[in-house]
Amino acid sequence: MTQILRPQPGILDIELYEGGASRLPGQSNVLKLSSNENLFGPSEAAVEAFRRAATELHRYPSSDHLDLREAIGDVHGVDPARIICGAGSGEIIDFLCQAYAGPGDEVIHTEHGFSMYRIWTLAAGATPVSVAECDRVTDVDAILNAVTDNTRLVFIANPNNPTGTMIGTDALARLADGLPGHCLLVLDGAYAEYVEGYDAGLALIEARPNVVMTRTFSKIYGLGGLRIGWGYGPQEVIDVLRRIRGPFNLSSAALMAAEAAVRDIAHTERCREVNSRWRHWLAEALASHGVPSDTSMANYVLARFADRAEAEACDAFLKENGIIVRGVAGYNLPNCLRITVGDEAACRRVAHTIGQFKAAQQ
Ligand code: PMP
Repeated sequence: MTQILRPQPGILDIELYEGGASRLPGQSNVLKLSSNENLFGPSEAAVEAFRRAATELHRYPSSDHLDLREAIGDVHGVDPARIICGAGSGEIIDFLCQAYAGPGDEVIHTEHGFSMYRIWTLAAGATPVSVAECDRVTDVDAILNAVTDNTRLVFIANPNNPTGTMIGTDALARLADGLPGHCLLVLDGAYAEYVEGYDAGLALIEARPNVVMTRTFSKIYGLGGLRIGWGYGPQEVIDVLRRIRGPFNLSSAALMAAEAAVRDIAHTERCREVNSRWRHWLAEALASHGVPSDTSMANYVLARFADRAEAEACDAFLKENGIIVRGVAGYNLPNCLRITVGDEAACRRVAHTIGQFKAAQQ
């Protein structure tokens, strides 16, 4: 008799992650503004460190990531012993789901939250629970109401992707206070460095046994191609995650470049400042064309159109003109397009093209 090979329960409920197009066949001068990459690129020091790594390719990388953990500790004022590094912050999110959620457990994410929370929850055999936001802003009361005896993890991205909105430290503290002890609060700070003076909930992590944060080198540090991120939390949680981590999960090139990147504070500050200037400019330029957006704290704006049809028509028009932005219908935002803030030329080009689209609609 033929046996049917079946994946674990939940796996077939996973929708494929839609990263969006990265090429436009037949088009030259393509402008990709769909993945929240830093168009200014990494610090020179990081590129130099990457080149140095090429002389050591016959060696395995460090397995304890100590140099990088110490650099992060110096720059962010956190304890290196309580840091774990992963292949992007995504890998840390995956470790958290594997370690803390299984069949019968629930994992809360927000309605317009990062789609990988749901995917890794299902991959771990647990049940994702989507909680509505309030005008595209995380709703702490709605989250607390959704918590059950089975809730194990709550994911909050702050700033949130794709909305760009943030909740303040008071709201985060209220959330952490309201969660039962069997529930881990994960503060996803993928875009934290874009926020001037952002403390990423560090005080909460230091004060509570059930709060962790995740961070990435893919965004402001401009190292998305190297796949590296980190997590910080109570020693007990980090020790659990270390049990799952493969011994050589990060390449020496990624480790060396990330260490140089985190120490290049001047480059990070420059990127934050330029992003903030052009994000304001872009939001205002879009508004002047009749396309509103919420105040974004990250390196993208969420442009709102009249309805799904108009958003899709604008997306198609942008592609015809060589510009790739991100449709976010999969995030329950069918009338929106997420646009990465680029440099001046990129912002002017995308705003001008959206202006042409809106003018043609009149
Ligand atoms: N969290 C959020 C909110 C994100 O937007 C992303 C990437 N788009 C990630 C985590 C994962 O990023 P990475 O794995 O590159 O660190």
